Amino acid sequence: MTAGFTYVGLPYRIRFGRDLLPEVDAEVARLGRSRVLLLTSADLAGPGDRVEELLGPRCVARFDGAALHTPVGVTEEALGLLQASDADCVVAVGGGSTTGLAKALAARTGVDQVILPTTYAGSEVTPVLGETADGKKTTRSSPSILPETVLYDVELSRGLPVPIAVTSAVNALAHAVEALYSAQANPIVDGWALDAVSAIGAGLEHLAADPFGLDVRADLLRGAWLAGMCLASVGMGLHHKLCHVLGGSFGLPHASTHTVVLPHVMRYNAPAAPAVLARIAGAMGVPDAPSGVDYLVRRADGPTSLRELGLAFDALGEAADQATAAPYPNPRTLTREGVLELLTRAWHGVRP
Ligand code: NAD
Repeated sequence: MTAGFTYVGLPYRIRFGRDLLPEVDAEVARLGRSRVLLLTSADLAGPGDRVEELLGPRCVARFDGAALHTPVGVTEEALGLLQASDADCVVAVGGGSTTGLAKALAARTGVDQVILPTTYAGSEVTPVLGETADGKKTTRSSPSILPETVLYDVELSRGLPVPIAVTSAVNALAHAVEALYSAQANPIVDGWALDAVSAIGAGLEHLAADPFGLDVRADLLRGAWLAGMCLASVGMGLHHKLCHVLGGSFGLPHASTHTVVLPHVMRYNAPAAPAVLARIAGAMGVPDAPSGVDYLVRRADGPTSLRELGLAFDALGEAADQATAAPYPNPRTLTREGVLELLTRAWHGVRP
């Protein structure tokens, strides 16, 4: 029998497909907006130019300075431009960093957001904003932070370089994996999560042979959207806690850290959630889920050790302390010893 559950739907408009970029102007108009502040980052000047051209006179200002972890100083600079240009909508072209900047502006002004994601982070479908000031990260959640419209353009996503595509895809996979054993798991989110696991698994499997193939990139982008909705809908567990500690306190790169840690957390949790791990393996078409994820990462030449990400071995004890001090709900009980062993294995990059 299905256990009781709570599900709350989120109000956004999603468009997914090929060659959607030319629709961006119509999507702004659909929101009843006419003055756009375009947001990008230095790596995305090319796609930014194209969107600026497509928006034509509707684009009244542009800010190319989005930065990782949404520093408040950067937001204040963009806020100045938003106010000076009297913009009533932001259009963000980029990954989680650019989406974070759009959300930070919406949190302060209520401005409408149209997001064109170029990575698989999934932030564009969550009402959560993480910001940094003076080296400290704070997180808040509000309906006003949730973007109004997301355009998932498969053509645009092909510009993402393969090494970033690999780590970003595993970042998305982690949202789906942890949703399946979340304390708030429910049948709707389970369906999204299993579809995401299977799409991302297929995308990663074929990425090396056909790195810029439309079908490969469509699988990854669709999986990322579904996984982002999982992240928005249910609580995450040990994996996300560890990645927040390793990113927040030790400065490790966001998506690469997810890539190294995920198979080890799956192995750690496997004895407490065998049925969930079996469903994930089934969706991937492999006999064992943690080994299957490890195989995909190695095959796609992704990072496999915390050592190669620059973490000092001496930091592992402190990371285990922080991860177990205020843990997220997790299927397997956390012990400092168990988490330290997991981190040690991830540091060395042994097979999970
Ligand atoms: P990112 O946006 O910084 O992108 C990663 C790198 O890829 C950057 O150097 C970027 O310039 C580059 N890049 C992106 N698209 C490119 C393209 N098409 N061509 C060339 N280079 C490209 O990182 P991310 O992993 O997408 O997002 C991470 C950030 O998002 C973190 O700050 C994280 O906390 C946040 N995040 C928030 C949520 C949420 O729900 N609030 C969810 C996921 C991630």
